[in-house]
Amino acid sequence: MEQLWEKALGILKAHLSAENFETWLEPVQFGGIEGDLIVLKIPNQFFAEWISAHYLDLILDTLQAEAGETHMPKKVRWELDETLREKAQAARETTPPPAPRPPRATPKPPDSADLNPKYRFKNFVVGPANQLAHAASVACGSDPGRRYNPLFIYGGVGLGKTHLVNAIGHAIVQRNPRARTLYVSAERFTNEFIWSLQNHEINSFRKRYRTQCDVLLMDDIQFLAGREQTQEEFFHTFNALYHSDKQIVVTSDVYPHQISEMKERLISRFQSGMVADVQAPELDTRIAILQQKAESEDIELPSEVALFLAQTVRSNVRELEGTLLRVAVKAELLGLPMDLELAKETMRAVLPNQDTAMTVEDIQRIVCAYFGIRLADIKSRRRHRAVTFPRMVAMYICRQRLGTSYPELGERFGGKDHTTVLSAVRKIGGLMEDQDERVLGAVDAIERKLGI
Ligand code: ADP
Ligand code: MG
Repeated sequence: MEQLWEKALGILKAHLSAENFETWLEPVQFGGIEGDLIVLKIPNQFFAEWISAHYLDLILDTLQAEAGETHMPKKVRWELDETLREKAQAARETTPPPAPRPPRATPKPPDSADLNPKYRFKNFVVGPANQLAHAASVACGSDPGRRYNPLFIYGGVGLGKTHLVNAIGHAIVQRNPRARTLYVSAERFTNEFIWSLQNHEINSFRKRYRTQCDVLLMDDIQFLAGREQTQEEFFHTFNALYHSDKQIVVTSDVYPHQISEMKERLISRFQSGMVADVQAPELDTRIAILQQKAESEDIELPSEVALFLAQTVRSNVRELEGTLLRVAVKAELLGLPMDLELAKETMRAVLPNQDTAMTVEDIQRIVCAYFGIRLADIKSRRRHRAVTFPRMVAMYICRQRLGTSYPELGERFGGKDHTTVLSAVRKIGGLMEDQDERVLGAVDAIERKLGI
């Protein structure tokens, strides 16, 4: 294995500038293999950070290419070494370390294996917020290159764009195993492009993207903002594929026109096809996503916990999933049931003081605006149903979000007895658990307005 390391170093030396190589890799020593760990000895902790941030992928890729998939170390264990530190110090005293330049990564030729196997249509939960993007993606998957070409999917972070494009790729390959799909992030496209220019490989780069590709799935196109040369290259790639009726799918975190420093002609290409957005999912979609995730991870998820998490994490599905896993792991580690108490405690640690800025009156105002009643009414003793229902909803949200005591809530809502507040909160809570549409819709909309 030591030989392998030497060999890898030789390859890395060829790819990095002499300065960078001498500064960052030469001082590192091979310390052996432990299972799937490679042990590297370094002069100080900074090397671990610097190498991890800049060269680690390249090192692992190189080792992988040399060793073959099966004997491949997948991670590094860093070991601080005194003698190396002294050596490095001595060297530094004579020559200051040069400012490192970014490394050139050796790109792996992409293939359909680059699709993420986890992201498929069958585990994508559809709701009003992503219905259009989902339908267009399904159409693309079953009839690529025809109806929706190009397909442009845009929306905020963690709302399922990468999931959808991968699912399109899988669907196409499933119908036609010979279809050559290329999933690539705009960042990787950029890196490969620059690398191939520098290494006189531009012809094979173009061949791969323009002629050997039937479906191009380009993720996070906003990365090309301001990168004129790469945009130019992508423009020609786009045209070549488009004119041969090859499917192109592009995602972005914003609407085409809002991508700053994107050339107008590319924007108009994007808009020539189908543009679909993904929005933050509604409460019941969030609940369904949690339930599905729980099922696939073998987590027993009580419905009140699902409801609580879905109410708490609203704008990012990745975070929603992360929260579920965090609670599940905590339950397992501590040997506790996965109940509401544990979920609340976990969320308190995650979202500290989330609600401190909000007051009872803020909630009252938003509730009144939602139901179209006056603030004075919700604070009054009036018992008309047009007022009592919004009042109960407001009490429920105050109790849930602010934890205000029942007697205090009684006072703030027209001098009611604390038992009246208690039963109002219970009633709304019960309706929420029964998935009562009117209540779910109202609470969800109001909480969105409150920004929680
Ligand atoms: P984006 O690319 O928009 O930032 P991702 O596609 O990476 O978001 O989604 C983040 C996570 O949320 C992924 O694990 C994905 O599977 C999951 N996810 C997002 N939307 C849905 C959905 N509608 N149904 C199931 N999982 C979803
Ligand atoms: Mg993404």
